[in-house]
Amino acid sequence: MPDIELIEKTKLSENTGIIDNMLNEFVEEDQVYKDKETVINVMKNLVVRERFQFKVKRSSATRYHLMCVDDNCAWSFKSSAVFKANIFKVRSYNNNHTCGYGERYLTQRQATSGAIASIVKDKHVNPKYVYTANDIIEDIQKQHGIEVSYMKAWRAKEIAMAMIRGSPSDSYKELSKNFYMLEQTNPGTVTKLHKSEDGCFLYAYVSLYASIKGWEHCRPIMVVDRRKILPLAYAIVDSENNKSWEWFFVQIKGTSGNVMRTFKKHHKQLKDIFFALDRAYTIEKFEYHMTEM
Ligand SMILES: [Zn+2]
Repeated sequence: MPDIELIEKTKLSENTGIIDNMLNEFVEEDQVYKDKETVINVMKNLVVRERFQFKVKRSSATRYHLMCVDDNCAWSFKSSAVFKANIFKVRSYNNNHTCGYGERYLTQRQATSGAIASIVKDKHVNPKYVYTANDIIEDIQKQHGIEVSYMKAWRAKEIAMAMIRGSPSDSYKELSKNFYMLEQTNPGTVTKLHKSEDGCFLYAYVSLYASIKGWEHCRPIMVVDRRKILPLAYAIVDSENNKSWEWFFVQIKGTSGNVMRTFKKHHKQLKDIFFALDRAYTIEKFEYHMTEM
């Protein structure tokens, strides 16, 4: 299998987390920007997009503070240089206007998906809570008295999700950095990233050290695709197909000592036996394949 060679150990240097994109749309506390100029441009684009005005409260070589044009409004933004370096860090950011900007803007009856998204985006923060396009329609109607079409609400939802989580491709870019940190902070943890020949993300595999260690004290029964059992490993794949399952078994076999000894078979056979087990209709057949494993 030549494509196994493409599995690479992760590198931290690929992504430093410093924002240099002047069109960055998601601003939050603790972000670090390349320099003051980048911060200024990002904030200028933000007010143009959200259509309000700010005042510069303080601006020097080491500080850049903003406030809403309405003196009584709570909206504020503070950033400053990081220890004599050029980079600027967002120290505090209160994105809530108490000046009624949100209502004013919406009642102009030009509520764009972007404006609705910035109003509802906090509802999308908790991944356990499903906030649908219909919820957006209902909330905007209740809170602001505005009718929003399903299409507009759906687009607002997409924009809000992107504001909070970034695009999926950006998330995948973060993977190698996160995997590196996972291995650093949990020695013995195994992570693998598998890319296509042209560098596109294919599969990811994680087996935490605690799980590997825990397995040494378990009876060697591996349950694939089930919850509420000590997880040995998990993976992210494009879809559950022959190729991705086989890749998963390759990683499982390679993960660590005890697991390695548990299975007699080669990963390719392991995958075939697993599928044969899955399709076994009689106890005899099932037990035959189980002993093979
Ligand atoms: Zn305001």
